[in-house]
Amino acid sequence: MLIKVFSKITKQALARNFSVSSRLSSGFSFELSETSQEIKDTADKFAREEIIPVAAQYDKSGEYPWPVVKKAWETGLLNTHAPKDIGGLELGAFDGCLIAESLSYGCSGMMTAVESSGLAQWPIILGGSKAQQKKYIGRLIEEPLVAAYCVTEPGAGSDVAGIKTKAVKKGNEWILNGTKMWITNGGVANWYFVLARTNPDPKAPAGKAFTGFIVERDWPGVSPGRKEWNMGQRASNTTMVTFEDVRIPEENVLTGEGAGFKIAMETFDATRPMVACGAVGLAQRAFDEALKYSLERHTFGKPIAEHQAVAFLIADMEIAVETARLAWMKAAWAADKKLPTATKLASIAKCYAADIANRVASDAVQVFGGAGFNSDYPVEKLMRDAKIYQIYEGTSQIQRLIISRHIFKEAKAKGM
Ligand SMILES: Cc1cc2nc3c(=O)[nH]c(=O)nc-3n(C[C@H](O)[C@H](O)[C@H](O)COP(=O)(O)OP(=O)(O)OC[C@H]3O[C@@H](n4cnc5c(N)ncnc54)[C@H](O)[C@@H]3O)c2cc1C
Repeated sequence: MLIKVFSKITKQALARNFSVSSRLSSGFSFELSETSQEIKDTADKFAREEIIPVAAQYDKSGEYPWPVVKKAWETGLLNTHAPKDIGGLELGAFDGCLIAESLSYGCSGMMTAVESSGLAQWPIILGGSKAQQKKYIGRLIEEPLVAAYCVTEPGAGSDVAGIKTKAVKKGNEWILNGTKMWITNGGVANWYFVLARTNPDPKAPAGKAFTGFIVERDWPGVSPGRKEWNMGQRASNTTMVTFEDVRIPEENVLTGEGAGFKIAMETFDATRPMVACGAVGLAQRAFDEALKYSLERHTFGKPIAEHQAVAFLIADMEIAVETARLAWMKAAWAADKKLPTATKLASIAKCYAADIANRVASDAVQVFGGAGFNSDYPVEKLMRDAKIYQIYEGTSQIQRLIISRHIFKEAKAKGM
């Protein structure tokens, strides 16, 4: 029935003018626009020429990849979502994800180093004044600097409402005290987005109890801790950050007192598709490495790719990468359109792509056999790097919690 209706509409449309037929054919398209293709080509080239050759070295040393970050900034691959009126490109989530997937293909640790600065900027894009955007995001456009998003604490990660860092108003200033943990770019950021409790009433709802602040690294009382030595993504910089009687001027409050929780959470609609596409970039790399190896490595007189068990593993890896990419694409599209389903789709993409990255990286190690377990080959790093995708920006359990809440809310709205 549907096919009949569709073909009737198509015939009528073709018989009419071009604009109608083009509207019909562009309704759902997997083709990138010319601009998006250009953006992707630039990021692919950057990953190939600037990231891949040095990725293993930074993974081993754990140094922050400043030379790569600076080149990425010069190339125009950083701060791409910054608003146009402060000198940014104001790229949407979709184009931002194209860049992030390519960078992550090169090294997901470096992608995290770069994208976490975006995570810190989003609360200011969403809730900051023009003056705050100009001063703090503008600074990142003018100089190759990065920022950090400080929400998690030693005692609270998933349970954001349980954070203890507090800010108390004194005259025209706020006095900030507390410790943040697992902060990406913590030791290298120029400024921080910090979420703190400002309502002392423990019964105050999360939507009114927390305030977002912009805190400069150089202010007295701000102390980043040592770099944490993590399982993977070692090119990124993770530290504790302590705030001790830090004086914050009123002009560095985001939106207003009590509005911080909402901004901190809304940020994830824009950034979770980025995390998802990072996971896809890593999975694509694992697939490519495994495919290449399976064609080169011979056992029992033929390439291992010709053993059905290996061929099917490769097929399953391809299925996983392709479907996870579709998930981030839909989530990024929904974020750009500001659809009510954007939060659910971002969580679906993040959760699915994170699981896929872990499975595909592990399968790549399997295809490599003993060599896969060794750090002279690329897939061991990919397997270590993949794990964090199931943890940061909300664990896979928390994503499922968000998705299920949305499902039940939608069901209720439908009267189910
Ligand atoms: C490398 C790295 C970089 C990071 N970067 C940043 C950053 O830049 N900024 C920032 O603010 N944070 C950052 N984080 C923190 C990260 O977001 C948290 O680690 C994450 O949200 C989990 O919080 P947690 O570690 O406190 O674990 P917990 O919340 O203690 O969770 C422990 C386990 O319990 C599960 N769990 C908890 N609650 C529930 C529940 N209600 N239902 C089901 N399961 C549950 C979790 O899924 C997890 O498996 C980073 C972390 C790492 C490791």
